[in-house]
Amino acid sequence: MNKTFSILKNRMSKESKRRVKVKQSKLIGIINKPKILFYDIETAPLKAWIWRTGEQRVNPGQLVAGSDQYEIITLCYEWAHNKKKGQLDWGKNKNSKKLVEEFTKICDEADIVIGKNNRRFDDKHLNTMRMIHGLPGRPDLLAKVDDLESQLRKHFYLPSFGLDYVSKMLGLNGKDGMCLQDWIDIMEGTPKVAAKSLLKMKKYCSKDVSDTKKIWNHCMAHFQPKFNHSIHNSSLCCKYCGSTKIHKNGISVQGKTIYQRYFCTAHNGNAGRISIKSKTDILT
Ligand SMILES: [Zn+2]
Repeated sequence: MNKTFSILKNRMSKESKRRVKVKQSKLIGIINKPKILFYDIETAPLKAWIWRTGEQRVNPGQLVAGSDQYEIITLCYEWAHNKKKGQLDWGKNKNSKKLVEEFTKICDEADIVIGKNNRRFDDKHLNTMRMIHGLPGRPDLLAKVDDLESQLRKHFYLPSFGLDYVSKMLGLNGKDGMCLQDWIDIMEGTPKVAAKSLLKMKKYCSKDVSDTKKIWNHCMAHFQPKFNHSIHNSSLCCKYCGSTKIHKNGISVQGKTIYQRYFCTAHNGNAGRISIKSKTDILT
């Protein structure tokens, strides 16, 4: 009886250890490969009563009732850790509440969310839709947001920081063509015309997302991305791309601390540093 119990206990112990191992490896697996989400939105234009064409100031009182608030027509996204892509739209009711709800769930899966000029535009539009449509507030999502535009402006001097220019500069053929009439067709066209233009807009938006991702990956070696892979990785790795192909690259001193610098051969750039000593024999 005792022998049977002992065998059973041993089996159970092995099983629980295996489960812990699986849990740990799953956890490490998830952490080792961060989920990076790229996205872009297209918004509906406003309508205004005006007296003439040309440069002028349009006051809020000139906005046409019913067309005096923004809505998101389409939102496209793609992941960096797998090949999944998505296209959401405002649906037949031309209301972006569901789109925002769905994308918020997708953001919750991500470790980092990246757009192009999203800090000033897309992120704020999403938050505005949450406020207008009575959705839960999610300012916490901003903690995991990075922005290609901010990184380009911070680290490069270019003739233009527009997506079309940077895309062409890197051989990605620039943005797809879209004109105001496409927006008008989506807003007021017959169902057939509106559907055709919406498809065109989704393709245009998806190309922007794809270019944002490619430009980010190309330029990343020169950025200081917000997401630190080293914090989320179980082994010593590059803080910028998560690769373990790193080697020591000299010593640096800042203030009273001495750092061991590392270089990453995977993304061909700085991998980060570790403090190795604190100077105590300093006269101040
Ligand atoms: Zn790296």
